[in-house]
Amino acid sequence: MVTTITLNKVEKRFGALDVIRGIDLEIKPGAFTVFVGPSGCGKSTLLRMIAGLETISGGDLLIDGDRMNDVAASKRGIAMVFQSYALYPHMSVYKNLAFGLETAGYKREEIDRRVREAAATLQITDYLQRKPKALSGGQRQRVAIGRSIVRDPKIFLFDEPLSNLDAELRVQMRVEITKLHERLGNTMIYVTHDQVEAMTMADQIVVLKAGKVMQAGSPLELYNNPANQFVAGFIGSPK
Ligand code: ADP
Ligand code: MG
Repeated sequence: MVTTITLNKVEKRFGALDVIRGIDLEIKPGAFTVFVGPSGCGKSTLLRMIAGLETISGGDLLIDGDRMNDVAASKRGIAMVFQSYALYPHMSVYKNLAFGLETAGYKREEIDRRVREAAATLQITDYLQRKPKALSGGQRQRVAIGRSIVRDPKIFLFDEPLSNLDAELRVQMRVEITKLHERLGNTMIYVTHDQVEAMTMADQIVVLKAGKVMQAGSPLELYNNPANQFVAGFIGSPK
């Protein structure tokens, strides 16, 4: 199950502020796409529009060819991975994973199957009965990702999920998320302001600046052939 996301002239205004200024983009099915750009360039806003958490001021958002502009977030088949602090502290890991499914009305056996499958994928089976505070940062991050996996979404969106972790753990989690993508094969979009993260994780990089796409392509294409000085500087290629 792989999904294409298409943006046609997408715009976002907050009052008089033009935040997203006409973005045309095709997110390749099954690819790991990274949105990278400096703080405030609109990465989170763009991701939230795709997720359905922000309205679209202009243009069209299509998922597998269907216009999504007015489709509710819960109907888009998208999971947004939040940072680890979004875990429920008073619930066990099992309950953290199960909670969303319980509210959505899934049967107990189905919930149990999905929770155990996600836990196995993320190698957190041994911690299912623990509370989040008894986990390391990396384990908590895995639980946060697990909460998305159990919903079996078509698309995963990550908004700077590693920014709270220390440097060593960040490197480890990059590898874990890349492996997760290889195992699941879903379309994933990952937002970061970290060039190294973008270059090491992405199949496809989209460089953003002030609400516009500066360049989209593979890490190698951008490195070898940056479209302008900004991309060259940002990606670190010697132009
Ligand atoms: P990034 O994630 O790249 O750091 P954001 O998408 O969070 O950037 O923000 C882009 C711009 O939009 C910023 O100038 C920010 O202040 C503004 N912005 C974001 N959300 C809102 C909002 N709800 N209301 C008004 N302005 C906002
Ligand atoms: Mg952001």
